[in-house]
Amino acid sequence: MASAVLKMFPGTKLAIGPAVPDDFSSRFYYDLDMNHKLSDEDLVAIEKKMRELAAQNLPFERARENRLKAISRFKEEGDIYKAEMASEMEDENISFYRHDDFMDMCRGPHIPSTGHIKAVKLLSVAGAYWRGDENNKMLQRIYGVSFPDKKMLDEHLLKIEEAKRRDHRYLGRDLDLFSISESVGSGLVLWHPRGALVRTIIEDFWREEHLKNEYDIVYSPHIAKLDLWDRSGHTSFYAENMYSPMAIEEVDYEIKPMNCPFHIYIYKSKTRSYRDLPFRWAELGTVYRYERSGVLHGLMRVRGFTQDDAHIFCRPDQLQPELERTIKFNLFFLRTFKFYNFDVYLSTRPEKYVGTIEGWDRATEALRNALIATGTEYEVDPGEGVFYGPKIDIKIKDNLGRSWQCTTIQVDFNLPERFEMEYVSDDGSRRQPIMIHRALLGSMERFFGVLIEHYAGNFPLWLAPEQIRILPVTDFANQYGGKLVDIFEKEGFRVGLDLSGEKIGKKIRDAESMKIPYMAIIGKKEIEDGTISLRKHTMGDIGEMSVDDAIKRLKEEVENKN
Ligand code: ZN
Repeated sequence: MASAVLKMFPGTKLAIGPAVPDDFSSRFYYDLDMNHKLSDEDLVAIEKKMRELAAQNLPFERARENRLKAISRFKEEGDIYKAEMASEMEDENISFYRHDDFMDMCRGPHIPSTGHIKAVKLLSVAGAYWRGDENNKMLQRIYGVSFPDKKMLDEHLLKIEEAKRRDHRYLGRDLDLFSISESVGSGLVLWHPRGALVRTIIEDFWREEHLKNEYDIVYSPHIAKLDLWDRSGHTSFYAENMYSPMAIEEVDYEIKPMNCPFHIYIYKSKTRSYRDLPFRWAELGTVYRYERSGVLHGLMRVRGFTQDDAHIFCRPDQLQPELERTIKFNLFFLRTFKFYNFDVYLSTRPEKYVGTIEGWDRATEALRNALIATGTEYEVDPGEGVFYGPKIDIKIKDNLGRSWQCTTIQVDFNLPERFEMEYVSDDGSRRQPIMIHRALLGSMERFFGVLIEHYAGNFPLWLAPEQIRILPVTDFANQYGGKLVDIFEKEGFRVGLDLSGEKIGKKIRDAESMKIPYMAIIGKKEIEDGTISLRKHTMGDIGEMSVDDAIKRLKEEVENKN
């Protein structure tokens, strides 16, 4: 692609052009510094030129050059981006690939010749700051994909279309679930009534299940003294994700990026005995984190979000059973939302860590044993633990096969130490509890975004903000419609009634486009029989039935969370 671009737009400076395999794999991009503003037509022309080069089956040759020589050559030729990248490498020699009259710095490996390029498509062009830093020059980034054959490419393009159709940002607008307003601020989510209703249902379920599973619910404030974050280590280890402090009566306060220290002070509010442990304290805690505007993305990456957080404080002998319990609880949750495929990672001790190696080994073993005991398949992610302890990450796979990081379960020795937490052991001595941090869904915002895409906006009945809409065929049936609303509401359903006066065809189309799971069509016959004609979204007409039968059917579906 770079070779094609240079042939068509001489003088273009090449910046960085990596392969960036995503969930569907085989994506690539190149950042280009050029005066010409690329259009969609240009992409088509570049693609054509690429196919010409592929047809010539030009062999790729690898070349090596002394790095310092290469840097001075880049500088002479005005290749400022390559010069900058090469000057940051450490190797003595760097490798290049050449075909025809084109040569580019590249580690390789490469396909043997351009003839191996069989199916390629340039997807888009967008602005991208050099190195993602808004103080640098804005370059043009072309995204493309390449496949070994046309069939695979076509399948991939279909998947992209499907992903677009499911994009939570558009569905969020079309289904009136949420919005993000530039007047309010980037990355700050406004939950509309319909979206907030779904969230409330999820939160109610979440609370109920936590109480059932012997958690306690706690609440904590949104700000705390800066000193607290110094003591927790956040201002040194987590500073880039935190906002500037604010002064209250000349004392600095900080908006919280995490909930952990608050739960620690609940623990520290009195003397704890070994008999009291474990404590399992859960909070839907809203936190704020500094994210650059360039990385914000709908609900998936935001600046303010609510974690479904919990901290478990336990004795060392309770660690493994608590972890097993957490994993089981977690999988139950995810399966309830129809996620059945997971990638589980056990992340071990990184280079920079706190605590002792024995402590790390013990905690890692406990995590590993808990995974084995619960029959959870996992992979080890060596060195990817947090500085304060090892962790388990669970990525869920959605209906398109994309993975999303949601769950994290972390063992922490650091905070109990920093905050001098203790309990009185059976021999009367003071011991330090172990802390487990865990978020099951991750954050309500992100999880909601993932759900919207996973379901393609078709929420299962138990979650749907409007479960059934009554559609009178003519205004004559409006009164009967009102009666039905009362009956369904009394049975605990969320019901709508279309009094728009539009034709029934239009009413059905409106309900379908809002993805309402059930529609009850009522005309003269239904009034006389005291029935409804039930219709299901995406399935079509089910038929006339008594109101009782319809209620029974819907109740079962809600009960099964289908
Ligand atoms: Zn925590």
